[in-house]
Amino acid sequence: MTSLPLIPATSVAPAARRAYMPPQHLADLDLAGRQALVTGLGEPAFRAKQVSNHYFGRLVRDPQALTDLPAATRERLADQLLPPLLTPVRELACDDGATRKALWRLHDGALVESVLMGYPDRVTVCISSQAGCGMACPFCATGQAGLTRNLSTAEIVDQAVYMAGVAASGVVAGSPPRLSRVVFMGMGEPLANYNRVIAAIRRLVSPAPEGLGLSQRHITVSTVGLVPAIRRLASEDLSVTLALSLHAPDDDLRDELVPVNQRWKVAEVLDAAWDYAARTGRRVSIEYAMIKDVNDQPWRADLLGRLLAGKLAHVNLIPLNPTPGSRWDASPKPVEREFVRRLREAGVSTTVRDTRGREIDGACGQLAAAEDNDTFTDRAGEAPA
Ligand code: SAH
Repeated sequence: MTSLPLIPATSVAPAARRAYMPPQHLADLDLAGRQALVTGLGEPAFRAKQVSNHYFGRLVRDPQALTDLPAATRERLADQLLPPLLTPVRELACDDGATRKALWRLHDGALVESVLMGYPDRVTVCISSQAGCGMACPFCATGQAGLTRNLSTAEIVDQAVYMAGVAASGVVAGSPPRLSRVVFMGMGEPLANYNRVIAAIRRLVSPAPEGLGLSQRHITVSTVGLVPAIRRLASEDLSVTLALSLHAPDDDLRDELVPVNQRWKVAEVLDAAWDYAARTGRRVSIEYAMIKDVNDQPWRADLLGRLLAGKLAHVNLIPLNPTPGSRWDASPKPVEREFVRRLREAGVSTTVRDTRGREIDGACGQLAAAEDNDTFTDRAGEAPA
């Protein structure tokens, strides 16, 4: 693992921190909104496109780099369209640079993380939709600290634009230079920040200069299962991939592992998922963290198989990633293999997710956005070059 250069961070005591939304940024607005803003400032409307082209087309986030704008215009527009939203606190890389995690400080001191994963055929960025998370899943590090606040649309989009710039710079060796996928699997529950997440998705899929021009199919929204929001998402004119964090096929256990299950039960959430699949034609991804002696029994594999057989679903098993203070471990490999075998026998397509980013606490469920985390420095110090 390599520890990349970082900007020194001043400590903000959580008690002294007030959660409030950041200034407006061009990524909060669609193109028409940006044009209205620009003309309101007394500038010609085409400036909106020009600045948007820099941001979404060339991935330029620094207003000083907008050298084709007259200096006075640049300053006026930079304030209104490109206020800095994410201040880098720390960047870590592992897997020879193919996995990179960025820790950001937001304007009010809140901290969030994003993770970039390069593969031979694609580059995926995992972004956060909230600072912290209110869903309280006991095996997830983000869930332990509670919710600080929702991110703004632009704070969500800017993570993807930044990481697209990292990919374009060529540092992700062995991967294409263009960001291909965005997964809402970082910190937070995306469907609990519904309107801003939907607006962010619209920015990600609109062609440049309005947006980043990604394919809808290459956007994944992962949820604990907020049923009304899943139904609402199905009624949008979007066909993004839905991932459902199921983790247990029975209500007894799911009530504990995913506490929101106490409100919306397994049967209800799967019903909403199948409606989503029917409306969009997209296969739903069922996320299932394999936790030793907790949810990995053969009978649970069989029950899950019965629930999913014949449905437009794919199971992603996630070996449990270690989190501080957790009493749980990942399932042993033979248990995992038997679980996979039983699901496949039931006719359910199943894969096991790689544990990308584990050594930089960047894997699923490990994002805690701790700024004074000694483990980071210790591990960075002893990492092979
Ligand atoms: N709140 C959303 C988005 C987070 S996605 C959701 O829960 O779906 C992060 C994924 O990693 C979720 O599927 C989550 O359940 C899973 N996860 C959380 N903690 C984990 C851990 N310790 N090991 C493996 N997966 C974990």
